Amino acid sequence: MRVYLSFHHTAEDWPVTCGIPLDDPAAARARLIEEFAGWDPRFTALIAACDDTVRLRAISTLPLGLTWPSTPGVTLIGDAAHLMPPVGQGANTALLDGAVLGLALAAHPDDFPAAVKEYEHEMFERTSAAARQSARMQDMLAAPDAAHRMLAFFRPD
Ligand SMILES: Cc1cc2nc3c(=O)[nH]c(=O)nc-3n(C[C@H](O)[C@H](O)[C@H](O)COP(=O)(O)OP(=O)(O)OC[C@H]3O[C@@H](n4cnc5c(N)ncnc54)[C@H](O)[C@@H]3O)c2cc1C
Repeated sequence: MRVYLSFHHTAEDWPVTCGIPLDDPAAARARLIEEFAGWDPRFTALIAACDDTVRLRAISTLPLGLTWPSTPGVTLIGDAAHLMPPVGQGANTALLDGAVLGLALAAHPDDFPAAVKEYEHEMFERTSAAARQSARMQDMLAAPDAAHRMLAFFRPD
């Protein structure tokens, strides 16, 4: 079983300073369960059930709406182009980037710079919208009343 735990509003260097003993997975799990004191035991049981290593990663993002001047012979797809909060769109967006770029190259076999420009034009617009949505979702998840906000999000009007 693989479980992800998100910690919001911590200092940027928290993964280094938090003192969670990563070299001792059982002790690390026990420390993580302490961080969730007061949570329903059905959730903390998920942490206890993990039987592998514990890794800490900072969540980084690229600036919203990042663009660059098109340069013949090189472009970016996926996270390298639009790293966004991990709330469900990054991989899908990366796969679509590859497909859109592939189609553009196929449509302009004699003019790759034009194909790259066409791809980037579509990609900048599409992925900025996805990154904005992801940032809003991340804010919702990090809010003190996240559970209520999520309920409202999934409830039809
Ligand atoms: C916790 C978490 C949950 C997520 N959940 C979802 C989800 O539910 N749905 C979704 O759509 N997306 C999700 N994502 C986002 C998704 O994982 C990424 O958007 C996606 O993996 C980006 O693909 P990529 O190919 O651009 O980059 P990556 O998957 O990061 O691939 C880059 C590869 O390049 C390799 N590499 C790096 N440097 C070098 C080098 N110098 N030389 C050679 N190789 C190198 C890396 O090892 C890596 O294998 C999640 C992300 C996280 C962190």
